[in-house]
Amino acid sequence: MTAVGLDLGGSKIEAQIFDADWALTDKRRVDTPQNYHALLNAIGDLVAWSKADQPNVPIGIGAAGVLSADGRALTANLPATNYKIVHDIRAQIDGGIVYVNDGRAFALSEAVFGAGRGHDMTLGLILGTGVGAGMTWRGELVGEPHSIAGEIGHVAAPLSVCRDLPVIECGCGRSACYEAYASGPGLSRLALHYSGETLSPMDIADQKSKSPSVQMAWEKWCEIVSEMIITSSFHIAPDVVVLGGGLSKIAGVIDDLAIAVDKRALANVKRPKIVLAEAGDASGARGAAYAAYLKGQV
Ligand SMILES: [Zn+2]
Repeated sequence: MTAVGLDLGGSKIEAQIFDADWALTDKRRVDTPQNYHALLNAIGDLVAWSKADQPNVPIGIGAAGVLSADGRALTANLPATNYKIVHDIRAQIDGGIVYVNDGRAFALSEAVFGAGRGHDMTLGLILGTGVGAGMTWRGELVGEPHSIAGEIGHVAAPLSVCRDLPVIECGCGRSACYEAYASGPGLSRLALHYSGETLSPMDIADQKSKSPSVQMAWEKWCEIVSEMIITSSFHIAPDVVVLGGGLSKIAGVIDDLAIAVDKRALANVKRPKIVLAEAGDASGARGAAYAAYLKGQV
């Protein structure tokens, strides 16, 4: 085996083992415990299983959220906020790990092995329970694996796209972040605003062609996500934007976003290509494993 990646999600933790060609050879999945000490134990058990045959294998752990300057986690979907999670995992497993933000892990995996291959600047964008993001330049992450570089979901959405909408408090503690409108719960908020109905993203995908008010919510979502992509273009000019997460599975999302970007971008300026992730749900663990492998090479 070459490396191990753990994907630490709000509902599942999955360990994946990769061979020398970066093919997935084995995996194991457990439910995510809802208290911190049980979480550390679960990670410890999966790491012990992963490295039973090869104690020195590089291990990367990908998780949502950010780390403070003194290493404390800020994460909405794990019971780990305010804990020094990297320090505590290292103590639990009695070894080293590389801790990677899930958006960064996704971007790295897609840039090296997936839809971002061969491009200079890639923006990986996860549109799911939250908005995760990361950027790579020629297959290398920009910023440290757990830095906030590229965290576009927590830039405030401009008045030009949300002046008619309620100001939403974001899970990060700031207000009116793109994530508050562009995530799955954000899309549901837009549907509630325009139609008065409580709808899941999949309901919205089904009903948008039949209901004018649900269609308005979908078009507003496309407008907001396209503005987020254009905002990133003014900072980093990605050649390609690779989409992942549950909302990327809605039929027609790529075409609708490309049209929305065309409407709002500067005239005659190159737009990023918008594409779907190739590795789907496997990207997070593989990106984390690859980041750990690279660290092991230094
Ligand atoms: Zn935020």
